[in-house]
Amino acid sequence: MTHARSVSGRLPGGEAAVTVHYTDEAIVAVDTAPTESPESLPLLTAGLIDLQVNGYAGLDINSAYVSAETVAELSDRLARIGVTSWAPTVITADEARILHALHQIDLARSTDPLVRAAVPMVHVEGPFISDRDGARGVHDPASIRPLDADEVERWAAHGPIGLVTVSPHTDDAPDHIARIRALGIEVAIGHTHASPEQIRRAVDAGARYSTHLGNGIPPMLPRHPNPIWTQLADDRLTTGIIADGHHLPAEVLEVMLRAKTPARAFLVSDLTAIGGLAPGRYETPVGGQVELEESGRLSYVGTEMLAGAASTLVDGVRTVATGTTFSLADAVGLATTVPGSIVAGRRPGLGRLSIGSPPDLVLWEADGDNLGESVTVVQSGRMVS
Ligand SMILES: [Zn+2]
Repeated sequence: MTHARSVSGRLPGGEAAVTVHYTDEAIVAVDTAPTESPESLPLLTAGLIDLQVNGYAGLDINSAYVSAETVAELSDRLARIGVTSWAPTVITADEARILHALHQIDLARSTDPLVRAAVPMVHVEGPFISDRDGARGVHDPASIRPLDADEVERWAAHGPIGLVTVSPHTDDAPDHIARIRALGIEVAIGHTHASPEQIRRAVDAGARYSTHLGNGIPPMLPRHPNPIWTQLADDRLTTGIIADGHHLPAEVLEVMLRAKTPARAFLVSDLTAIGGLAPGRYETPVGGQVELEESGRLSYVGTEMLAGAASTLVDGVRTVATGTTFSLADAVGLATTVPGSIVAGRRPGLGRLSIGSPPDLVLWEADGDNLGESVTVVQSGRMVS
């Protein structure tokens, strides 16, 4: 047991001063005291949890050259902006390349306890998705293949796979989904052209998540029924949402959150390696030339097509808090308590400011209930910034 330390701030929407005492292992006490001027206090939240990260700041999980050092450095860079837990997201590639990425992530986790704590699981998005344009997004059609629980079982020998995103558009999808669930791995529906009936069957078989609902789907759909309505209406599905202000129009974000909040929606960044870099043009290994605008919008040069996300989870929290009817407290919950509950089996109490929870804490600059930059980040009890 290490000596207890503490941080003090104000909870989003709160009026009192809250002091959280923690050791390297856990939060050990939470004190609340009245204060004369709560607005002068920084905002205090649990560390943010991003369950879909492909890269950041020039570091790329899906590069053929990804190493354990890449993973560790990514973990550190994310912690410095307040994202203290994250799921490296390995996308569609041939099996050898997926296994290489999983092996490097596993190596980083086994050599560095901080990375092990920060990375409770891996998300594999693809390769069992739709190969149709629109539905596949930027995933390489040459590596997209039929849903195969045997391959997932081979991956699972190389690290803590927590979530696999699949398209359930084939008749045998429910069988494979049930087999993946039997491995202790959750299944998300995404990058799909499946029919509402195929989606219902996938959920009956055990799929419990939707991956970035409203994106990774054909641009033209029947008005109803369609797979978005089916997933929005089914309370068995908890959905990831990219709230960067570019992937979903504000009113779509509003309605999705109304259908799924408070417990069945969580924010993801879907960050790529270009996130965190200066605005400008970049060459990407899969997609050719892309342009990053000041606003964080990332698109293929000369087109309106989005080329992935470049805004952080913190930006997503701000988008929800300022661009919808939901409060900052709600927005923070979508990036802490909900994703924390998804990984609770691997890291109990994550995303909560409760006694016994992991000591991941962030103090933020505050202008009323607007979230500024992080000023203090504690990860696994260590001050990282
Ligand atoms: Zn995707």
